Amino acid sequence: MTEQHSDLIRYARESIDSDKHEDDMHPFSLYVCEVCLKYTPLEITLRFNTDQVLLPLNSFIGHIQGKCSSCGKTTLLMSNSDEDDTTSRIFPVCSCGSKQFIAGMCERIQGEKGIPGLFEKRVIVAKCARCSKIQTIAFTE
Ligand SMILES: [Zn+2]
Ligand SMILES: [Zn+2]
Repeated sequence: MTEQHSDLIRYARESIDSDKHEDDMHPFSLYVCEVCLKYTPLEITLRFNTDQVLLPLNSFIGHIQGKCSSCGKTTLLMSNSDEDDTTSRIFPVCSCGSKQFIAGMCERIQGEKGIPGLFEKRVIVAKCARCSKIQTIAFTE
């Protein structure tokens, strides 16, 4: 599925320091539009409750949404908060001006001898659909 986005996968694994956690597992998955069921470019919105304004967000708690560039439907990509009335919003924009990203996430799962254990950390990354520049959006714990 993700041959063409191996650069994004490599970047995500590096930003979560996978090489320093060789015993752990680092599954990567691309976010998909829930209607198209394809890895279409998404317009990303982060909704959360702090004053932070610069990406990447650390210890992110809130909701991440992606609006499909193909069908216009908004998919909830990630949510780790029960609160819905968040005060802050960020719309990531690439330095080229594009708001469309191929987005994905890489998790660190503590593993021993191939047995999945505790979830430890997650990074959300995004690759510009126009110029292919990659940026880190947020880390969650
Ligand atoms: Zn769609
Ligand atoms: Zn760009």
